[in-house]
Amino acid sequence: MKRRHAEPGNRAEVHRAVLRWYHRHGRSLPWRDTRDPYRILVSEVMLQQTQADRVALKYAAWLRAFPTVRALARATTRDVLLAWAGLGYNRRALHLHAAALRIVEAHSGRVPSHGEALRALPGIGRYSAAAVAVFAFEKREPVVDVNIRRILSRISEPRTSSGDVVAEADAWALAERMLPPRAYRDWNQALMDLGALFCTARAPRCAACPLHRCCASAFSIEPGTARKPPSPAPIPRRIHRGRVIAFLRAQPGHRATLRGVSLALPGTPAASDHAWLMDVLVSLQKDGLIEAWSGRKRITLPVGAQARVRIALPG
Ligand code: SF4
Repeated sequence: MKRRHAEPGNRAEVHRAVLRWYHRHGRSLPWRDTRDPYRILVSEVMLQQTQADRVALKYAAWLRAFPTVRALARATTRDVLLAWAGLGYNRRALHLHAAALRIVEAHSGRVPSHGEALRALPGIGRYSAAAVAVFAFEKREPVVDVNIRRILSRISEPRTSSGDVVAEADAWALAERMLPPRAYRDWNQALMDLGALFCTARAPRCAACPLHRCCASAFSIEPGTARKPPSPAPIPRRIHRGRVIAFLRAQPGHRATLRGVSLALPGTPAASDHAWLMDVLVSLQKDGLIEAWSGRKRITLPVGAQARVRIALPG
């Protein structure tokens, strides 16, 4: 099949094919049924490092607990961390909480609509700011995630290697050039869906893809080789951090002794290596995810192995 660059004439064809497919087959996701900027902000922070199907399980419960930005701003750190259970990367919960406080203080409780003000919020980077601006306010902005970068790379220029994608630095400019004249929200959501369902990283399904007549790389991408199974590697520290928080969530009063915490990390150096455990706990305390108490006094970690210390979720 002859390959074509997505030049203006062809670009209009791409726009039509993408939007037509999306209106018939776009994925139904809970955060797509709303234009409420707070709800969309919540979904974008949750989706930063958690898969959509897992977010879908937690999203409604979060909105019941904190239905508005003001409700979230009023919540305690502990309530926020408890509600975040199951989503991982707990610092995002603190960022979202801090963002709600900032929105109430600096924006009278209204989520800002422009990229610059959104990016000034804690935990909101370029991608999340653009996503909120487009999905809540229908701004004319490109959104670039890994799926969009890959599919636009392939649509716009003939490529043959599954790993050949436009450089990160050029991806935003490409996404800007490829925007349709309207329907920015549907366009960006459609690209995410098409990238996830058809234009996958290693083996794009061009025969089933609705863009195969207008894509510059249709039927040209050599399937990538399957990745070798990763060799056993040490468990990253973030996993241990998550386990500490999950353990504290499950304890009465959301607190435990130092020894109790160390026993909650089986198969790790924690039980035998006090310095290692302290390192994990110090990082959690620095991030505001835990508190340490000696009697009635709040203390700063690290402490020695013999110290009688309780570790707790922040109050
Ligand atoms: S799946 Fe194939 S036809 Fe569809 S966008 Fe990707 S490379 Fe193009």
